[in-house]
Amino acid sequence: MKPYLYFFIGVLLFMSCKHEKKTTSNLNSEEPKKAEFSIVIHGGAGTILKQNITPEKEIAYRETLEKAIRTGYDILKNGGSSLDAVQNTINVLEDSPLFNAGKGAVFTHEGTNEHDASIMDGKTINAGASAGTTTVKNPINLARTVMDNSPHVLLSGKGAEQFAKAQGLEIVDPSYFYTENRFKSLQKIKEQEQSKLDHDTKISFYDADIKDSKFGTVGCVALDKHGNLAAGTSTGGMTNKRWGRIGDSPIIGAGTYANNNTCAVSSTGWGEYFIRALVAHDISALMEYKGLTLQEASKEVIQKKLTKLGGTGGIIAIDQYGNMVMEFNTAGMYRASMNNKGELYIGLYKD
Ligand code: ASP
Repeated sequence: MKPYLYFFIGVLLFMSCKHEKKTTSNLNSEEPKKAEFSIVIHGGAGTILKQNITPEKEIAYRETLEKAIRTGYDILKNGGSSLDAVQNTINVLEDSPLFNAGKGAVFTHEGTNEHDASIMDGKTINAGASAGTTTVKNPINLARTVMDNSPHVLLSGKGAEQFAKAQGLEIVDPSYFYTENRFKSLQKIKEQEQSKLDHDTKISFYDADIKDSKFGTVGCVALDKHGNLAAGTSTGGMTNKRWGRIGDSPIIGAGTYANNNTCAVSSTGWGEYFIRALVAHDISALMEYKGLTLQEASKEVIQKKLTKLGGTGGIIAIDQYGNMVMEFNTAGMYRASMNNKGELYIGLYKD
């Protein structure tokens, strides 16, 4: 063979190697940090500013976030499933009056508490959700039961409550969900609403000062030792919501998504925008179809797509390698993470 042919073949081989490398690095442009298991939680996003929170309240938030994440961490450490970790972690947050889920749920326009929740299994792509329930103590347990024991994905209202009762879930009197703080927030918003109407100003349910009055939706994502991802979200929705309004939290693909091949995501924020932007699934899709890393995909969806639409909020997410992301475009987000080494991070504000 002529020497120039060797040279030509050499150039071709070199170029094909380069191309191969580029494709691989597109799929994983961040060297994946292998973590045997990891867990991330959020307790809502919004105008969370240090100057608005008393030191005592900050300690209370930090303690409850830590208690919750350690619950899931222990399950994962002992070889439990990511689904159990997500559910039990969320139970701790639901039972706390600090967060807008379960016990601390915000009030509807009519003065009731209506809960939405969802959970998803990244291994089977199975999911369960419930919307608009008023008597189920831990809505995430209902979501899990819908997934495990029914042929459906999303149950709502009275039917969901009948199902919960038949399945033996804990049912409480609606008064269990009363908290003075949340009730006062409703009164304040109603007064603002009335004064706007008195001044003949066009009033929007989601006026700037009103939309931020619902902090505290809770969520959890986890990767277990078996390589399975799971995500869950639970909320009371938005203060002063009416007409049976349902947010993104029980909508699979918007508020919650999990797929073992990509990531697990839980959202919090202005629900209507998260539904329209299909935030949780979009992050997974960018990883699946475009080869973006979890970090890149989360930034793209929260900082570009959601922000451009006018939506506010954030997500927590974890990928199959245990990489963890907490991305938000608000002043703060209650959040915590823990890896397999037991390293704990807790954050409230933008660092
Ligand atoms: N996303 C929830 C909803 O719109 C509220 C929140 O996360 O703060 O119902």
